[in-house]
Amino acid sequence: MTFTLYPDTRLALARDSLAGLSVGDALGSQFFVPGRQPADLAADRLPPPPWQWTDDTEMACSVVAALAEAGRIDRDVLALAFAERCEPYRGYGPGAVRILRLIRTGTPWPVAAAAAFDGQGSCGNGAAMRVGPLGAWFADSTSRAAAQARASAEVTHAHPEGVAGAVAVAVAAARAARARLDGDRPDPARLLAGVAAALDPATEVYRGVRDAARLLGRPLAEAVETLGNGSRVTAQDTVAFTLWVAATYLDDYPVAIRSCVEAGGDVDTTAAIVGSVVAAYTGVGTPGGVPTDWLAAREPLPDWVG
Ligand SMILES: [Mg+2]
Repeated sequence: MTFTLYPDTRLALARDSLAGLSVGDALGSQFFVPGRQPADLAADRLPPPPWQWTDDTEMACSVVAALAEAGRIDRDVLALAFAERCEPYRGYGPGAVRILRLIRTGTPWPVAAAAAFDGQGSCGNGAAMRVGPLGAWFADSTSRAAAQARASAEVTHAHPEGVAGAVAVAVAAARAARARLDGDRPDPARLLAGVAAALDPATEVYRGVRDAARLLGRPLAEAVETLGNGSRVTAQDTVAFTLWVAATYLDDYPVAIRSCVEAGGDVDTTAAIVGSVVAAYTGVGTPGGVPTDWLAAREPLPDWVG
């Protein structure tokens, strides 16, 4: 079935995904504060506001602003936006700060991105953590979502695994948003099969997504054991786990985010990715959606995202 998706609908879907991403990021990062325990969240004891968002949200806001402006990703424009808006205290990794500083001082992004990590390019989770709202924007076409995710990744992530991580998350978010429009929750296995179909089978991210599909219905600890929890801050040990959580709890945002907190590891980023996919399906303030009191506790988004 083909249908027309109006710009306002695209923006509304992307904004809901961004709400899920930023609340997951901001709440997840609270669990790096010493003494704060996953059990507190499980018992509904929320950390005191405001919850500051981190690099995941700052970059995702640039992606949404670029789409709102032009309807597509222009890599030169996006690279410069990432570089100019980077506030290093937001938790950017040293590699990302270096690439963005090079771009800001005039190095073309293909050169800056390719030079990272001794010429291998970054396979970090940075391209995946910011791309969910882009997937929601392209709810009408997973192939468009995949191609635009690739473009958004390449400006900082030259390594095939870094790019594959972004493609996987964007396709998952596109399918989640499409399911919301159709009023039909996708079967978790079908969701992950659709993601795998968009990936290069030579990548570890692809193999991870296949493993995630095999582990559906198993306990969280077993998924973490096989898929990782982002503690190596690579796409390979982050993305498959996040998509296992999102596919499993697609209709329950709070439980999905609690699962990321319980799993430990790079919690702001796993919760950002999971939040972006789940909120593309649930929306905000709906049953199973992003709770409005969680949204109110999150630090406001930057003015420039509109
Ligand atoms: Mg972060």
